Amino acid sequence: MADTTHVFAGDCTATFEGRDRSVHRGRAVVLVKPDRTVLVHDADGYQPVSWLTRADAVTVERDDDGSVGVVARAGDRTLRVRCRDPVADGAYPVTAAGEPIGVHPETGGTLVRAGGAVSDLASDARYPLVAGATVLDRTCDDCGLPLMCVERGAVFEVCIDRDCEPLDDAVRDRFDGAWDCPDCGSPLRVIRRRGRLLVGCDAYPDCETAFTLPSGVVVDDCGCGLPVFETATGRRCLDGTCERFET
Ligand SMILES: [Zn+2]
Ligand SMILES: [Zn+2]
Ligand SMILES: [Zn+2]
Repeated sequence: MADTTHVFAGDCTATFEGRDRSVHRGRAVVLVKPDRTVLVHDADGYQPVSWLTRADAVTVERDDDGSVGVVARAGDRTLRVRCRDPVADGAYPVTAAGEPIGVHPETGGTLVRAGGAVSDLASDARYPLVAGATVLDRTCDDCGLPLMCVERGAVFEVCIDRDCEPLDDAVRDRFDGAWDCPDCGSPLRVIRRRGRLLVGCDAYPDCETAFTLPSGVVVDDCGCGLPVFETATGRRCLDGTCERFET
C-alpha cells in the first residue's frame, strides 16, 4: 500500500501564518495525510485546532533534541508544528474508506467502493469504475471479482477489472456499425479516443463526425436516423445538438 498517514503526538506548538497568524500550544495529535493535509487535533471536538488542507509541500524533520517538526505550505499560507518529546511518532498505511462490497477472490481482502473506484484493502489493487456504473452483488465467472452494470446504449454487465472483460469489447459487439454517419453515410464505429467511449465515422479522418455514447439505453429512433437514448436527465438524440430531435 503506497499511501501512509504520519501520526505524532506530544507537547505541540502549531503556528499558522496566512491572512492571520495564530499560535496554539497543547498536548495534541498531529496527522499528515497522503494528500499533504496537516491536521492538529487537541482534546476538544471533531475539528482540528489548526490545519492546512492539501498543502503544496510538506516536510517532516526530526531534530537532535528528539523533537519532530512539520512545515506545510500552500500558496501564501504556512503551518509549522513543533512537537517536543513525542510520545507517538509513526507512519501507517491508509486507503480510501468506503462501502464494503465484497471480498477479493485472490487476496481475501475486503473490497470497498470509494472515490469512483473499488479498492482491495489487502493489496494495491484498485479498479476504477466507469462513470455512472453500479456495482452488482454478482461476481465475474472468470475471475470472481464483482460485476458492474453500465448503460451505454444498452445495459452491460461487465467485470470491474477492465483487463478481465473490457466494456469496450461488449459495446463494440453490440453497436459497432449499428448506425450510419448523418454527414456522409459511412458506418459509425465504436472507438475510444482520449479516454472517452465514442461512436465515430468510419471515414475518419476525411469525416470527423463522432458522438460520445451517453450513459443510458437506446429506446427509439430520431428523425435524423440516429438513436434516441433514455438517460437519467431525460431523452436525447445521440447527437446532443440534433435539431430534428423532438421530445
Ligand atoms: Zn473478471
Ligand atoms: Zn461521416
Ligand atoms: Zn437526431
